[in-house]
Amino acid sequence: MKKEKRLMEKPCSECGDSLEKKLISQEFEREGVKIRLSGLKAWVCNGCGEIYFLPGGAEKVVKAANCLFELALTEKQHKGTLTAQV
Ligand SMILES: [Zn+2]
Repeated sequence: MKKEKRLMEKPCSECGDSLEKKLISQEFEREGVKIRLSGLKAWVCNGCGEIYFLPGGAEKVVKAANCLFELALTEKQHKGTLTAQV
């Protein structure tokens, strides 16, 4: 029988503390352009704050960040931080 991957039932691999599902925001910077993605669902360690994305989540975050960078760099009008709410 195949075991389902259920991250939330595992403790943090860094410190062994429990994980809590939270909405987080992440900031990225490239070529002087800052973007922020907020409202991301992820598991966050109560002990050390390590962030674990849901399965497949990390790639989607990277994809979204790349799209935002493209937008910000194309328009060249964002001097501050380009923020996207998921
Ligand atoms: Zn931890």
